[in-house]
Amino acid sequence: MLDLSRERRRMVDVHLSRRGIHDREILEAMREVPREAFVDPGYEEFAYEDGPLPIAEDQTISQPYIVAFMLEMAQVNPGDQVLEVGTGSGYAAAVISRIVDHVYTIERHAGLAETARRRFEKLGYRNIKVRTGDGTKGWPEAAPFDAIIVAASGPGAPLALQQQLDVGGRLIIPVGEDPEEQRLLKVTRTGASTYSEEDFGAVRFVPLIGEEGWREDDRIRTGRAPSHLPTRSLPQMIGAAVEPLPEIDDPAFAEAFDRFAERRLVLLGEASHGTSEFYRARAAITRRLIEKHGFAIVAVEADWPDAAAIDRYVRHRRHSPAAVRPFQRFPAWMWRNTEVAAFVDWLRNHNQRVRPSKHRAGFYGLDIYNMSGSIAAVLDYLDRVDPEAAAIARQRYGCLTPWQKEPSTYGRAALSSGYRECEEAVLKQCRDMLARQIEHAGKDGAELFDAAQNARLIASAERYYRVMYYGGSQSWNLRDTHMFETLQHILDARGPNARAVVWAHNSHIGERALHRDGNLAG
Ligand code: SAH
Repeated sequence: MLDLSRERRRMVDVHLSRRGIHDREILEAMREVPREAFVDPGYEEFAYEDGPLPIAEDQTISQPYIVAFMLEMAQVNPGDQVLEVGTGSGYAAAVISRIVDHVYTIERHAGLAETARRRFEKLGYRNIKVRTGDGTKGWPEAAPFDAIIVAASGPGAPLALQQQLDVGGRLIIPVGEDPEEQRLLKVTRTGASTYSEEDFGAVRFVPLIGEEGWREDDRIRTGRAPSHLPTRSLPQMIGAAVEPLPEIDDPAFAEAFDRFAERRLVLLGEASHGTSEFYRARAAITRRLIEKHGFAIVAVEADWPDAAAIDRYVRHRRHSPAAVRPFQRFPAWMWRNTEVAAFVDWLRNHNQRVRPSKHRAGFYGLDIYNMSGSIAAVLDYLDRVDPEAAAIARQRYGCLTPWQKEPSTYGRAALSSGYRECEEAVLKQCRDMLARQIEHAGKDGAELFDAAQNARLIASAERYYRVMYYGGSQSWNLRDTHMFETLQHILDARGPNARAVVWAHNSHIGERALHRDGNLAG
């Protein structure tokens, strides 16, 4: 047999030490393991070039530098328990076995696993266990691991592997869609349910095929991800993105959202109408953002005048006796439930302590559907502050009176009768209210803002119901636009540093919010 020990020492010196690998244990292990014993017959003389080499099943033995680099990233120490996914030739596992006490390695191709097993035996490396199977699921019986090294690139860090890390444990994995280039990630488990992630730059690996990797038929034939087809199933994508969270009532649950503390908008969709658990989780996150991070707006997918009743309550403002009973419209359960009630009471208590009172957190509705409630609110406001203006407004809104109970029939009627009159009337009223707002800037703040917002809503709703009659997407877009603009008005009204938590389907405002300030979270 060729004596390649000189080449081996040279490889460690030239390709590893001089390229920045400093860990003594790693360098020593790489001086010891005969890489030539892990390449296919005929390739021995290339064993100490710093490059990958082909092995059976169309796979490769990793480049020595990358093996050393991954081990250094993983900070492997004597005494560690290490899992490797992608045994391949067995070379990396052999190197690891010279540093730590126990190595577990998984290979999906039985033939490769068997060859590697024979190599370890021949070399007398007895602290390596080899298994054939899908390494994306890890090796639960041997967990937890101090380090997990994945030698093939997947769509994301498999959840099972993250969960099999000990606290403080490190997972090293190449990740990315592009078969030519992926990112080498290090995921560190920092706590029972917390992880941190670092990116160590571009690399190129063979694909990780498995339940939490790629699908075999996508990639293996060509070795390329088809550019026109999704390469990951939805569960895979969700699996790659999710993080386990503590129980909702555990204080650590809401703390996990502190990372969004600096955002202007936190959108807690996608399920604005959900289960009790979802409502409690949403409330816990919102409480934390308000209490610890100064958020002062909760904007929800409820009608403006209805939410305004809650807003008056939580901000200790005057109850409006004229207002009709809020939250009557279907689906009433969406807001009339114990979880929302508990949150509302919490907010009222919290606000009690907030000084000055203008900094109290408010509760606002973004939606458009309670036109009659908005009309009543505008009239109520004007009756109190300007009875003459109230009389004019009453006349203008009178145009809509026949449809207030059943606004969805308005569109049809508007076709035949002179709807333009109605449109003109509500727009005039809206303009008047906005002019009043400018005129009285600074005075009567919350009350006038509420009334003006109702006037806006009536104008949007008039169009909405008219357009709805024709069907199609226009009315839907109109509603979404109204919701987003309402959010903007609330932010403007609450000042330059105002920050909002939004409880609405993200589709209503997420897109626009993203385009507006690229500052979207959640
Ligand atoms: N560590 C090896 C590198 C092997 S290349 C060495 O030093 O030579 C990556 C290996 O991962 C291939 O052998 C491939 O078959 C294997 N692989 C891909 N997906 C896998 C999966 N889900 N589970 C286990 N092995 C996998």
